[in-house]
Amino acid sequence: MSAADLAGKIRDIPDFPQPGIVFKDIMPLVADPASLKETIDLLAEWARPREPDVILGAEARGFIFGGALADRLHCGFVPARKPGKLPWQTVEATYELEYGTDSLQVHADALGKGSRVIVHDDVLATGGTAKAKTELVEQLGGVVVGVLFVIELTFLNGRDRLEGYDVQSLIQY
Ligand code: AMP
Repeated sequence: MSAADLAGKIRDIPDFPQPGIVFKDIMPLVADPASLKETIDLLAEWARPREPDVILGAEARGFIFGGALADRLHCGFVPARKPGKLPWQTVEATYELEYGTDSLQVHADALGKGSRVIVHDDVLATGGTAKAKTELVEQLGGVVVGVLFVIELTFLNGRDRLEGYDVQSLIQY
C-alpha cells in the first residue's frame, strides 16, 4: 500500500463547512484498518529519525494520528485545544481565519525546556493553525523538529507560513 492508495480513501465533500470549500474527509481512511496502519507507518518513518520527545496535535482530528504516532515512537502526546477546554494553567497563541481570529492553548507545564517536538495535523491548508502550534512550542522552550501532515493543499501555500521548519506531508493536492 502506498500514499496513492491512501488518497483513494480520502473523500471530497464540496461546500463543507461553507460554500466554496472542498473538505478532505479522512473518516473513510481511519475506519479502514490497513489504511490507518499504513498512514501511521508512513508518518512514523518520517518522524522517527528526527527523534521527537513529544507529538503535539490540535483538536480534534490532530488527536487521531497524533496519539497513535506518539505510541508508535514511544514518545509523549500534548494536545492543543480551543480556549476554555484545558483544566490547568495554559499558554495561548492566536491565528487568523478567513474572517476574524481563533486561538489555541496548551498546558503551561506540557513541555520540558529543550523538548524535541513534532507538530502534527491531518491537513495543511493556509498554515495558520500549524504556525500557532509552533509558537506554543517555542513559548514553552521546546524545539520544533518537524511539522507533519497527512494531507497538504498545495494551492493554499501553507508552507510559506512555515518557512524555516522541516515540513512534510504524505499526500498533496
Ligand atoms: P489551516 O488553514 O492550515 O490553518 O487549517 C485550518 C484547520 O482546518 C486545520 O486543522 C485543517 O486540518 C483544517 N482544514 C482546513 N482546510 C481543510 C479542508 N479543505 N479539508 C479538511 N480540513 C481542512
